[in-house]
Order: sequence, then C-alpha cells, then structure tokens
Amino acid sequence: MTLTNQTSGGTRLHSRFTAALSACVMLLLTATGCGDRNEPAGDASHGPITVVATTTVLEDVARQIAGGDAQVLGIMRVGEDPHVYEVRPQDAVTLSKADVVLANGFHLEATLGGVIDQVAANTHVDLAQAAGIDGDDRIGSDVYAGAPDPHIWMDPKLFARVAHQIGVAMAKADPDHAAGYTQRAAQYTSQLNDLHADITQAFATIPQDRRTLITSHDAFNYYARAYALEIHGVVGISTDAQPTGQQVESLRALVRDRGVRALFIETSTSPTLNNIVKKVADEAGIAIGGTLYSDSLGAPDTPGGTYLGMMRHNTQVIITALTAAQEHTSDKP
Ligand SMILES: [Zn+2]
Repeated sequence: MTLTNQTSGGTRLHSRFTAALSACVMLLLTATGCGDRNEPAGDASHGPITVVATTTVLEDVARQIAGGDAQVLGIMRVGEDPHVYEVRPQDAVTLSKADVVLANGFHLEATLGGVIDQVAANTHVDLAQAAGIDGDDRIGSDVYAGAPDPHIWMDPKLFARVAHQIGVAMAKADPDHAAGYTQRAAQYTSQLNDLHADITQAFATIPQDRRTLITSHDAFNYYARAYALEIHGVVGISTDAQPTGQQVESLRALVRDRGVRALFIETSTSPTLNNIVKKVADEAGIAIGGTLYSDSLGAPDTPGGTYLGMMRHNTQVIITALTAAQEHTSDKP
C-alpha cells in the first residue's frame, strides 16, 4: 500500500527504516556464510563475482554489461515502486554477500538505502555520484529528502554515464574480466546514444506547443528536459505523498484551460495515483493515452522487459497520444 492516512510521512519512513534495520541485523547474526567483506573481490577461487542491483532498471543494465562473467541479482521485483519499497528480511543477506552493490542514489532507494549503508558500505556504488551527475546535469537540488530528482535513467544520454560506471565498478571488483566489462559497457552506451537519437527524431513531428502531458507521478522530468516536453505529475518526485486537492485541480486546469489531452498512468505507482489520472481524463471525456513504465521494468516477455524496450515503448505511447491530440485539435472548427 503506497499511501496511508498518516500525516507524517517522515515518521512512517523512520519506523519502517528501523524495522528493516532490526530485521537485517537479526538475519546477519543468524545467517551462516555471509562472507567476509574484507576478502578480495573477484578471486578466481570463489567463482564469478556477484553484483546486486537495487532496481529492475539497474539490474537489466548490469546483466547486459556482466555478460557471462558475473552473477547479477536484483532486489526489487517487476512493478515494485522504489520510493516506497518495503525491505524484505532476505535483502540484507543478499546485499551483504555481494561483491558490488549498484544503487541509483539521489535517495531513490529510500528505506533500502539505510540497509545498504549498514551491510554493504564497502561494496556499494552510488551511481548518480560515480557518474558525476551534478550541477546542471541534475534536476532539483533538494526536491525530496534533501536529494535531487532521482529519475536519471529517463535521460538516455545521462544514463550512458551511469552504464559506463557500472562497467567501471565491475572491472574494479573483478580485474580478471575487466576487458569484457569495459567492452560490453562501451557497446551498451553506444546503444543508449542510438536510443537518444531515435527518441529525438520521433519527437521531431510534434510541434513545440503540443508537447504537454500528464502522468501519475513526477518521474519524467529528465525525459522532459531531454526531449523538450512539459510533463505534470499528480504528485511530486516521490510517490510517498498524498496528492492535495490543489494538485488535482491544477491537472483539471491543464486539461480544461490548455487543452492537454495526453494523460498516462504508470505501471509501478499506486492505483490511487493512477485512478486520479483516470478520473481527470474521464471528467474531460478523454481516453487514457496508455501505460508508461517509470520506476520499474515490465515482465521479461513484455515490451518494457528491458530498459531499452521500456524507453522505446514509452516514447511510442507518448507520440501516439500527442499525435492523436493534435489531430483532435485540428479537427475542431
Ligand atoms: Zn519515481
């Protein structure tokens, strides 16, 4: 359940955090074979290294770059919302055994971030920081929990720097296979550059004043900046917030006063937020433009099963809706 009636999100997060830490400490005390974090990583006698990624997006990229040289595990599952992820007791054990822990950073991991600090302090890579996403690269300086907007994967060019850092982290942890990691990371960043070129070209047919859309939460600011769109979410950067009547009213105003007809729901946010988008669309007699992947990939056999697939799917859905909205407007007398 994403939203609660509690007035203090901070209190709730704190209690969840404390519970997660207690669970993880207990498990670490009772678990056998957790491994000594001081032992050298990538020792051939220990077999392939283990890379643990927090989100499904990072897990996919890590797999592409790992090839057959490293074992990649993910903490979050398909469709789970990282902002309100509730740590599972097993997570601490998984994280503590990893040779490399890949985290997005910018407070995306929220509660899980506290567990990482406790059990994977020496193996953890904060990718936003490692990729030097700072200054003008980042959006917002302290928009949520004192951190910038964490949705950096929504800009493929920015995310190429993250992918490069994933290769760097693997090469460092497993020098015997460094050449492979470096080569696959370069290959993957080149695919990200192609993706960026394709998305840019796809938006070329949409006039600048018809590029406004509404989504369930503010996950698309980096995408909006990269492709010159104006995107409004029901709530802010994190889904861990209750939408106010004023926020909902401002969406109605966008539809009513500015003729915005492109409204989307998301796969990894709560039904509450998606239902608000549906209600606003319904009131205006507009069909929902489609479902976007924001903070989680889709199931492996769906178009959103990979990061590249997710971005291509989102772009196609958005372009289709914006084109239809444009045709609707030009049909009007
Ligand atoms: Zn998000």
